[in-house]
Amino acid sequence: MTDTYLHLVNHGATRTVAKKLGLPRPPVLRRYEPGAPLVAGPVLVAGRGPDADAVAQHLAGPPAEGGWDLAVHRHADDGVRYAAVVAVLTEVARPSDLADPALVVGGVLKGLLPGGRVVTLSRPALPDDGPALAAARQGVDGFLRSLAKELRGGATGNGVVVAAGVPVTAASVLATLRFFLSARSAYVDGQLLEVDADVPAGPVVADEARPLEGRVVVVTGAAQGIGRAIVETLVRDGARVVAVDVPAAGEKLARVANAVRGTALQLDVTAADAGTRILEHALARHGRLDVMVHNAGITRDKLLANMAPDRWSSVLAVNVEAQLRITEALLESGEFVDAPRLVALASTSGIAGNRGQTNYAASKAGVIGMVRATAPLLAPFGGTANAVAPGFIETEMTARIPPVTRQVARRLSTLQQGGLPVDVAEAVAFLASPAAGGIQGRTLRVCGQNLVGR
Ligand code: NAD
Repeated sequence: MTDTYLHLVNHGATRTVAKKLGLPRPPVLRRYEPGAPLVAGPVLVAGRGPDADAVAQHLAGPPAEGGWDLAVHRHADDGVRYAAVVAVLTEVARPSDLADPALVVGGVLKGLLPGGRVVTLSRPALPDDGPALAAARQGVDGFLRSLAKELRGGATGNGVVVAAGVPVTAASVLATLRFFLSARSAYVDGQLLEVDADVPAGPVVADEARPLEGRVVVVTGAAQGIGRAIVETLVRDGARVVAVDVPAAGEKLARVANAVRGTALQLDVTAADAGTRILEHALARHGRLDVMVHNAGITRDKLLANMAPDRWSSVLAVNVEAQLRITEALLESGEFVDAPRLVALASTSGIAGNRGQTNYAASKAGVIGMVRATAPLLAPFGGTANAVAPGFIETEMTARIPPVTRQVARRLSTLQQGGLPVDVAEAVAFLASPAAGGIQGRTLRVCGQNLVGR
């Protein structure tokens, strides 16, 4: 489960040898540490117009007024090495309008600090936009995805796509920008995330480092891997947790729950009464349920021509049918109504397809459809439903992949490495947070810009 190659080319004597031989060196990624600055240097805000001015003002503003107190430049200064570039492209009207901000960004890329960030802010291309406007807006998509592939040193490029009518300073826009700038999004690369609505930021958060304070979260498949990391990360962010896993994983589950003073619930999520049992446990032990994280998942890979019926149906049952039934029980209960958050684990296989995974990809694409259709059901309560689609993550699931295929899979992303469970957990924590309330029914990839699919 460790990426030995990544370690060797970045440490000690083998680092020198790798450098001399010109071997590809996947970068060590900048990951979140409490208390560390949001970005480690000055930030260039590129783009002209009121939106760019408003964003720059917020980034540079005093913390007492909700600002981020960053060293913001509005023009690229010669010789300055930037930690981040925010390109505000919301006001482009024709493709030719992209030239100026794109070239400004290009001008500072060589000096971008390791672990740097480029974030675009743009508007979605809509069917009733005129052709020139739609071309300009859609152009941002190709620009950002290609730019991300050119970045080095663990730097990433991501975009916030702000729905019509939502101001660029809306709480969820700023929260998404902050997530992309931060080390929490270390393995999110080449992605555009839509912010659909300007909703209040939800329950007031006194402590920004603990946005989930007072919230009760259920995480399924919590005994190991990504689920365990989600538990630890959500607790770090202030939540109280119910950790769910099958009885066979009971001992591991108890260790995970005890380590964070959460409670453990041994339960097969495919049980017909799983939803009510989860709810009863959460209410009895914690008095409420605010966030449901559907993480439990299995693979039973086979080419479709060789697929036995039980391989197909067990994957669909755990990965999507159980999620649907549990969510339905929560919705019917009337207890999941205080700005609830649902976050479900999809997969890049469900987006791009993967040979040998017709069953798994059907289930994971199903999850993407499920959250899209669940979001409007939760919206009346200030709730959201979103998915996180991991690419290759270093867990026991991927440790089962044959060694050579595993090595290749790791390098098939812009960041040239697999992600860590915590990278997925950070995305889940972000979508579960009150400030992400304007993101509704979306799927965020955490894949290092895996080269397959979009
Ligand atoms: P994992 O196999 O390490 O852990 C999955 C956990 O789910 C296990 O603890 C298992 O006991 C539990 N589980 C399985 N069936 C269950 C059931 N019926 N009821 C309750 N718990 C059950 O997997 P992981 O790599 O940590 O993956 C977590 C999620 O992320 C899954 O949904 C997976 O499909 C998804 N994902 C993982 C990767 C990756 O690269 N590891 C990539 C894309 C998506």
